Amino acid sequence: TDMKPIDLNEGLQSTLVLVRNSLPDNLTVIKEYGNLPKVDCLPGKINQVFMNLVTNAIQAIKTKAEQRAEEFLTIRTWYEDQQVKISIKDSGIGMTEEVKHRIFEPFFTTKDIGEGTGLGLSIVFSIIEKHKGHIEVISKPNEGTEFIITLNVNP
Ligand code: ADP
Ligand code: MG
Repeated sequence: TDMKPIDLNEGLQSTLVLVRNSLPDNLTVIKEYGNLPKVDCLPGKINQVFMNLVTNAIQAIKTKAEQRAEEFLTIRTWYEDQQVKISIKDSGIGMTEEVKHRIFEPFFTTKDIGEGTGLGLSIVFSIIEKHKGHIEVISKPNEGTEFIITLNVNP
């Protein structure tokens, strides 16, 4: 209800600052911020989306049994066809097809009790919907996961 023009690169950057201390030593964060126009959105809500996705990505890396010497979290933004795109990609455990089909359901979680409520991605989905945006997921077990958000500059 209270849309404001927001620099989404700044929102992503502040999210990364908040998780800085919970990053494992073997995790490299790659940031590729494109030149973006400001996007009309609900700033608190959009930051919640970034936080939920980044938290999931870090957990997906930390819970992997076979840790590589270097794991990656890649944050990329770009502007294409009048739309802003945001990619949050991890080299974590990935998802089976079965899991992938259920991730946006409220209370769906594969995590232990106390580790996850299963609400993060259902909240993400409804926030993106509220912004008339789009979210897609690409994931492979043992390879990793990428979430791509598309937002219109003026929804
Ligand atoms: P929670 O994190 O509390 O489990 P979410 O709604 O955030 O709930 O995510 C639901 C489920 O989607 C997770 O339990 C996990 O199985 C899967 N998931 C989400 N993000 C990732 C990711 N980056 N890599 C692998 N699995 C993921
Ligand atoms: Mg979560």
